[in-house]
Amino acid sequence: MHKIDEKLANVTARIARAAEISGRSASDVALLAVSKTQPADQLRRAYQAGARRFGENYLQEALDKQDQLSDLDELEWHFIGPIQSNKTRAIAERFSWVHSVDRLKVAQRLNDQRPPQLGPLHICLQVNIDEEPSKSGAHLTELNALAHQVAQLPNIALRGLMAIPAPDKPPRASFARLAAALAQLQQAEPTCPLDTLSIGMSGDLEDAIAEGATIVRIGTDIFGPRA
Ligand SMILES: *Cc1c(COP(=O)(O)O)cnc(C)c1O
Repeated sequence: MHKIDEKLANVTARIARAAEISGRSASDVALLAVSKTQPADQLRRAYQAGARRFGENYLQEALDKQDQLSDLDELEWHFIGPIQSNKTRAIAERFSWVHSVDRLKVAQRLNDQRPPQLGPLHICLQVNIDEEPSKSGAHLTELNALAHQVAQLPNIALRGLMAIPAPDKPPRASFARLAAALAQLQQAEPTCPLDTLSIGMSGDLEDAIAEGATIVRIGTDIFGPRA
């Protein structure tokens, strides 16, 4: 068995166990394999081991890998990195999901540049849940207004919220605050398909699943440490 097979199987088992402990179904937690900095052949191995969703942070690197893997069916590409507004066109054209939208201007550009025949671009709003000074993400105080405007965009499906908690404290309370914010948005925007909580990375996927994660974003524990 290749190392990636084994690691992927371990992560899948952790997800199943965490879901069981929380009385949730493992099928309600999607695994996003975060493949930034990994060469295309590593993604191909993960694909052969069953991974279908890949998360990328750097646009040019992602586009190169998409080209190299264009022979694979059913791949679903998620953009999870910071977004410069002059890079939105390729994101709108080449990805199914974007987890890192944190301002209206970027959402509007993605909406305008999304080829309509591809169907709506699935979006999570990134929240700076611990209000860290140098981190991307909308603050909770501005979230409702932002969500309300994004919800009007016809080529965008506003699916939920994403956050990366502060590294220096246990993440569970931050995950719980994000889950509460999503519940509140579901009330405020009843016509939106708000079903997604994108939380949990290699070190904290159990806490994230306990607080309602529906997509966990796992890099290191699938591919090994990044260079
Ligand atoms: C790199 C990254 C991950 C994966 O982190 P690991 O600790 O390697 O699992 C998840 N989410 C985002 C936004 C990332 O940039």
